Amino acid sequence: PLLSALLLAGIVHLRSAGLDDQSRLELDLARAIVEEQLELHYQPQCDAWGRALGVEALVRWRHPVQGPISPARFVPLAERNGLIVPLGELVLRQACRFAQDWQAQPGAQPLQVAVNVSALQLAEDAGLERLLELVRQHRLPPQSIKFELTESVLADQPERLRRLLARCREQGVCTSLDDFGTGYASLAYLSQLPFDQLKIDQSFVRALGSSERALEVARTVVQLGQRLGMEVIAEGVETEAQREQLLAMGCTRFQGYLFARPLPTGECRAWLQAHA
Ligand code: C2E
Ligand code: MG
Ligand code: MG
Ligand code: MG
Repeated sequence: PLLSALLLAGIVHLRSAGLDDQSRLELDLARAIVEEQLELHYQPQCDAWGRALGVEALVRWRHPVQGPISPARFVPLAERNGLIVPLGELVLRQACRFAQDWQAQPGAQPLQVAVNVSALQLAEDAGLERLLELVRQHRLPPQSIKFELTESVLADQPERLRRLLARCREQGVCTSLDDFGTGYASLAYLSQLPFDQLKIDQSFVRALGSSERALEVARTVVQLGQRLGMEVIAEGVETEAQREQLLAMGCTRFQGYLFARPLPTGECRAWLQAHA
């Protein structure tokens, strides 16, 4: 309530000022968060045979005037102005509810719901505790929630990151290193961090067909994850050829348009029921 009041006060204040497009958009985003206009879509994560094992929650914003705005645009904005903290909580709460609803079906298969977590949400230990508390409140079976962190998150504080990851594990929340291969993670860094899952970036997947060398790089990344005891998932899998190549390398989980696009809640539930 305090946060909402502050945000609304900010909206009133900013409305009265002359605004450039960027500030206008920030303001609209603040309002969208307060009024819960943001929605989640869910993209299935599958085994090699297309059976659903989980989903990734991906935030969607339909701007009242501009229409749908890509998270690739408004998430970085929210990361700069701090709105990612309330936005992230909203996302996690909705994702937990999705997991809860799934779980409530008679004979439901276990399903893991992955949520993207930004650096700013972990700027203080209390940030992580707040997220874990939200998960606890939903009384989900262990491993129902997975946090996806990119390589840049706490890259300069590996010791602290290690502690936070251990804390997640202790609380039954899984962790995945998102967009692996695009950022800063050195091999030394990776070997010291207890991530449960390594998520190979789409750029590697896209490069698979281009050359024998690209194939070798991807193969090495998959093996690296395996040897460090992590489950390896590939994102952005679009073709049958990619699926086959990744499977042959030892990749066990897949996410991409070949299996399903990110889907609105109802459609995703139906998809999951058909692919249990
Ligand atoms: P990400 O976490 O790496 O998510 C994967 C992105 O790849 C998603 O884009 C998804 O729609 C897209 N994708 C999935 N399968 C395919 C495929 O087969 N081919 C191609 N070309 N793309 C595919 P989206 O939904 O636009 O999200 C973009 C990024 O925005 C995400 O990248 C993530 O970094 C960020 N994001 C989305 N939702 C949230 C959120 O709730 N919180 C935070 N902090 N970041 C979020
Ligand atoms: Mg992700
Ligand atoms: Mg990713
Ligand atoms: Mg990505």
